[in-house]
Amino acid sequence: TDLFQSPDYFQVDDLLSEEHLAIRDAIRAFVKKEISPIIEDYAQRAAFPEHLVPLLGQMGCFGPTIPASYGGGGLDYISYGLMMQELERGDSGIRSTASVQGSLVMYPIMAYGSEEQKQKLLPRLASGEWLGCFGLTEPDHGSNPAGMLTRFTDAGDHVILNGAKMWISNAPYARLAVIWAKDDNGEVRGLIVERGMEGFSTPTTHGKWSLRASATGELVFDNVKVPKENILPGVKGMKGPLGCLTKARYGIAWGALGAAMDCYDTALRYSKERIQFDKPIGAFQLQQKKLAEMITEITKAQLLVWRLGVLMNEGKATPTQVSMAKRNSCEIAANIARNARQMLGGMGITGEYSIMRHMMNLESVITYEGTHDIHLLITGMDVTGFNAFK
Ligand code: FAD
Repeated sequence: TDLFQSPDYFQVDDLLSEEHLAIRDAIRAFVKKEISPIIEDYAQRAAFPEHLVPLLGQMGCFGPTIPASYGGGGLDYISYGLMMQELERGDSGIRSTASVQGSLVMYPIMAYGSEEQKQKLLPRLASGEWLGCFGLTEPDHGSNPAGMLTRFTDAGDHVILNGAKMWISNAPYARLAVIWAKDDNGEVRGLIVERGMEGFSTPTTHGKWSLRASATGELVFDNVKVPKENILPGVKGMKGPLGCLTKARYGIAWGALGAAMDCYDTALRYSKERIQFDKPIGAFQLQQKKLAEMITEITKAQLLVWRLGVLMNEGKATPTQVSMAKRNSCEIAANIARNARQMLGGMGITGEYSIMRHMMNLESVITYEGTHDIHLLITGMDVTGFNAFK
């Protein structure tokens, strides 16, 4: 076929089922048809391809592991990972839209929501009829979200919400937001805030050099009246948002690998075609070193995320394992993108090739859902037992 062939140096494909391979091919074909041809233009214009939202829903990219009875895909975690890998090979911004919708909006409603919330919201989110966003980060509380200032106070049949969230993916286009705020007792709760509620606005964040095809915005709550039935009843405390982050980070661990594969594949092809000093540049030792290191890191990361997927399916994966995989995939992808870009010389800085877009996107991916440093501290705390955060 003329579909992308992902690097598979250690026959990792043999570890996948027929169904996994079919799902991967379906998303691969979708990316080739609907995303790759348009994404460079949208990224250059810093525009969000909103028309992709229902298509992503049709392809099952929203909430693949949510049960089919609620409109989800009912698939396993390897399938979910492969979908994120393929989407991010297209663009990290599109994968971000899918991660937010599935892991940060649908998952908390599924895990912590009332039966009524699930039935009303999940099918519409799964189909892409409604787009959601996830509000945790605030202007003054990023890596330390537990310090959040956004608060709500009891007012009978509703609550009054005040505060602001920042850096929120999908916010400008979202029909609803799952947000985290403290109640009168200082306890963190999840609330569903809907577009149109008085005092709720979603100003767009402009001027990003990264994730330009993903819309980012603020969430501003100015005395917003939120009905009590919009509170997620099933969770209290930081374990609510942190549980969502574990699901999303898992998808990012696969996704960033997709971006790395695309950069490697592009650089490898270019190295065979580009002639300098009468030889393909791939015949020079320095360029081979770059490619050899890229395929080695991709192979190691493939095995790591595959094993993590098996543990997720068995319900045995720990948040610290997810944290390690997220950090590793982001780091190797960012390094591979940078080296791949250099291998393309001047051509590498243009939109003719996907590499520079991936390289810039990955700066967000290595930052959001816990920065590289924060994940190092999580692993450090896990292995030593000492908390170095504060
Ligand atoms: P800070 O927390 O201020 O960190 C600054 C630097 O200090 C970092 O290098 C960090 O590693 C380091 N640092 C912090 N604490 C420590 C410590 N204890 N020890 C050592 N070093 C430390 N958030 C959402 O809630 N929803 C979204 O949809 C969302 N989408 C995003 C989309 C984009 C494009 C971006 C860029 C961000 C998004 N975020 C979102 C926010 C993201 O999760 C935060 O940017 C991230 O958690 C880091 O927070 P910060 O930017 O405030 O950096």
